[in-house]
Amino acid sequence: MGGPELESLIQMFARVPGLGPRSARRAVLKLLQNPAGRMLPLAQALVEAARAVRHCALCGNMDSRDPCTICADDKRDHAVICVVETVGDLWALERAHVYNGLYHVLGGSLSALGGTGPDDLNLAPLLDRVGAGDVLEVILALSATVDGASTAHYLVDRLAPSGVRVTRVAQGVPIGGALDVLDDGTLATALRARR
Ligand SMILES: [Zn+2]
Repeated sequence: MGGPELESLIQMFARVPGLGPRSARRAVLKLLQNPAGRMLPLAQALVEAARAVRHCALCGNMDSRDPCTICADDKRDHAVICVVETVGDLWALERAHVYNGLYHVLGGSLSALGGTGPDDLNLAPLLDRVGAGDVLEVILALSATVDGASTAHYLVDRLAPSGVRVTRVAQGVPIGGALDVLDDGTLATALRARR
């Protein structure tokens, strides 16, 4: 129905996380009702983001600037680094306005079952930054899972020689991946209760 262009567009939308075939069809229909006002601006924004957005070489965040806007911000506390698993976790903390230091995005967690080892994670830039000596505290905000815990243990071991203070956000708080769904108050409590 509707020809190959429409079919392939709906299929692409259906692969977007959070959308399925039904919502893909609904979204495409809605866009088609206003091609100039909705569809072309969306297409242009997709092209521009695909061309411009990169991983920050320092922290692993995604931004059109490198170093990213957060790393380049002089008003933030550059002596504290909060380690998270995903860019989504970073966004959740930023949305909550509970933290004013820098970040480091690992890009996942160690997983014996999933076959993710230290070489698969974005570790070297973190060790470099801490090794440079200006960082006073590293906060681990990793998921409360077996993988999150083993990643935390591994990081504590790797960071120990630097002498930097390593803290962890309150245990039992479902961070990492699920951090997105936490309300701001819970995030603030988790950060304050680090030890
Ligand atoms: Zn950055």
